[in-house]
Amino acid sequence: MDTKKFILTEKEIPTAWYNILAEMKNKPRPMENPQTKQPLKEEDLYPLFSRAAAHQEMNTTDTWIEIPEEVRDMYKIWRPTPLVRAIGLEKALDTPAHIYFKNESVSPVGSHKLNSAIAQAYFCKQEGITNITTETGAGQWGAALSLAAKHFGLELAVYMVKVSYNQKPYRRSIMETYGAEVIASPSMSTRAGKKIITENPNYQGSLGTAISEAVELAMTTPNCKYVLGSVLNHVALHQTVIGLEAEKQMEMAGEYPDIVIGCFGGGSNFSGISFPFLRHNIAGTANTRFIAAEPESCPKLTRGKFCYDFGDEAGYTPLIPMYSLGHNFAPANIHAGGLRYHGAGSVISQLKHDGLIEAVDIPQLETFKAATLFARTEGIIPAPESSHAIASAIRCALQAREEGKKKTILFNLSGHGLIDMSAYDSYLAGDLNNYHVPDTEIDSNTANLESLA
Ligand SMILES: *Cc1c(COP(=O)(O)O)cnc(C)c1O
Repeated sequence: MDTKKFILTEKEIPTAWYNILAEMKNKPRPMENPQTKQPLKEEDLYPLFSRAAAHQEMNTTDTWIEIPEEVRDMYKIWRPTPLVRAIGLEKALDTPAHIYFKNESVSPVGSHKLNSAIAQAYFCKQEGITNITTETGAGQWGAALSLAAKHFGLELAVYMVKVSYNQKPYRRSIMETYGAEVIASPSMSTRAGKKIITENPNYQGSLGTAISEAVELAMTTPNCKYVLGSVLNHVALHQTVIGLEAEKQMEMAGEYPDIVIGCFGGGSNFSGISFPFLRHNIAGTANTRFIAAEPESCPKLTRGKFCYDFGDEAGYTPLIPMYSLGHNFAPANIHAGGLRYHGAGSVISQLKHDGLIEAVDIPQLETFKAATLFARTEGIIPAPESSHAIASAIRCALQAREEGKKKTILFNLSGHGLIDMSAYDSYLAGDLNNYHVPDTEIDSNTANLESLA
């Protein structure tokens, strides 16, 4: 019988995050001030973010960044997370491939998001900040930050995308249980929200809109900072604990991945599982494939434009060099709420542009079919977001079967789906659809954005 689970001890929780920016040969272009088109400096980010986060965001020189002891201490609640060989899934697929997954669903809030929430809340606390604000899609990030904020004694206001606020009421309950205030977005409480509701009263919200509202609140409230759960470099940095642990665990398993897969919303969990392995590709000592799995209904990496664009709907953020569907792209109301974001982070976008990573877009029904098979063979009901990674891993495993090749596949299980059961209900009742975005919609939505390609 093969070993199924690879477990590290608390002592083996990484002591430093891996900063891929320091090792990239082609670094991403800088963020720009939308008015002056000048490159942004670290100080330009101070009004919005904690200084530590701003510093990490711009750090292109330090490969390793020490994890503060208070943060590591809190990681010990659930880290290190297990690496599991998905033997049941392999058997069901009758594949020669070996499939491993890193199980980030074991965190108290059920996803990888806590890895960065703790770090960012800690930095705010250190700097004497009293209030923080953020957006959340499906509610995973909001839940993680609610717990982290409470732990470090900060007040938190969360703008939750309206479609998820209604689809996933228990995530709101979770945030409120941890002591956060939750507002459905678009809301009438900000200028950005009011404008959108006035123009389109039935708009069900998007991450881009919720970000605008949270940024506006932070900019207009004293001693309040904005905290972001994905897209930016410092968030990806914090998530590298995932891949750093997985690297040791793959070694315990006596294997090295041929393919590493993560689902893709703004890029934080994909970066987290990938970057520590990608560094060996950069060094020329490995030749692993990295696949970002995004929804067919929100295909920024596969079909978006490489350009400078805003991170939010209203255009409050700096211009970010990214693959984008346009900052006012309104994604379909799919159940993978955490993947309904119009753009990709600048590091990921540069890596994709340079051919160091790949991307696939996957129809919603295929992701639920994969999720159901995974639940039945491995026991864990995955988050609809994570199911994109599972579907991509299944595609790779079936290809390995066709080619008769043994491949080692590693994917990140970014979260469990136990609070997403209404989505499974709809799937099982046959009520879900696929959503293909026409080329014309992408073209018209990005027409005003200048290509960087
Ligand atoms: C938020 C979320 C994602 C997508 O965000 P990334 O920053 O791309 O990782 C994926 N899976 C789960 C479970 C999430 O909560």
